[in-house]
Amino acid sequence: SIVVTGATGHLGTHVIEGLLEKVPAEQITAVVRDEAKAAPLAARGVQLAVADYDTPESFDGVFSAGDKVLLISGSEIGKDRVAQHKVVIEAAKAAGVALLAYTSAPGALTAALADDHRGTEQALLASGLPYVLLRNGWYNEVFAENLGPVLAHDAVTHAAGEGRVSSAARADYAAAAVAVLTGEGHENTTYELGGDVAWSYAEYAAELSRQTGRTIAVNPVSVDAYADILTGAGLPEPLARILAGVDASIEKGELVVTSGDLTRLIGRQSTPIAESIAAALTS
Ligand code: NDP
Repeated sequence: SIVVTGATGHLGTHVIEGLLEKVPAEQITAVVRDEAKAAPLAARGVQLAVADYDTPESFDGVFSAGDKVLLISGSEIGKDRVAQHKVVIEAAKAAGVALLAYTSAPGALTAALADDHRGTEQALLASGLPYVLLRNGWYNEVFAENLGPVLAHDAVTHAAGEGRVSSAARADYAAAAVAVLTGEGHENTTYELGGDVAWSYAEYAAELSRQTGRTIAVNPVSVDAYADILTGAGLPEPLARILAGVDASIEKGELVVTSGDLTRLIGRQSTPIAESIAAALTS
């Protein structure tokens, strides 16, 4: 089987859609922690396994020898995500799966957010399992689906200076995962995945102005000031620090990906940020 964890999340939903276009539903297993949320998947004939990264025994029997597994990284801030992911890696190892692909972060990323990914990569390599590292760059949706504060102030506030980011749509990264899970010869490979076009916040603000017909300014601030602004807007301090740290990494160019791996894996250009903005503005 092809087994996907985090299958009811945003990325996982795209992955299951992509798999259903290529393999029979009964060969796909969605690992979910909330069976009710997965009802639409079950209705389409996808197998369900209920398991939680926090409960190792819930993974007993989830994997079988020869499975190809996609471990979608957990999303809970404050959790020990390396420990969570190790639960999946150890269960996959015990079952003797054929491949474990992990959604990681760009290799160049030094922001705190990357620590859990580096820790998980080390655990996966140490397991001796055939692995694929899908080092996903930033999602277009991280920007395009958080337009509330931008449109409230007609300004894009950021702490990335002139830095650029090669983001791509979640659907693009999902398509890369599907290519790896359904293709051959990907064992023990690291893919640096990012969009074809790197853009700056100034260009992003210009595109927003074009699409909204308003004048959206760009408001560059320091990393500390940005963390304070985010905290003031109601974000928990640790999350605000993490997000501001990502902008610091963007300024340093750590989220520019030039490998071409994403386009090669999916066989088409990645989705431009303008397209994701348009989708968000009309949704
Ligand atoms: P989502 O938050 O939509 O999905 C995360 C998935 O992980 C959900 O299906 C969630 O289950 C599942 N999950 C979380 N905790 C557990 C747990 N303890 N046990 C079992 N399953 C769990 O994120 P996305 O799909 O958008 O992104 C996937 C991952 O990529 C994120 O989790 C995060 O690590 C990373 N990410 C990357 C970004 C980027 O720009 N590259 C931006 C944001 C996140 P449930 O459906 O029940 O909630």
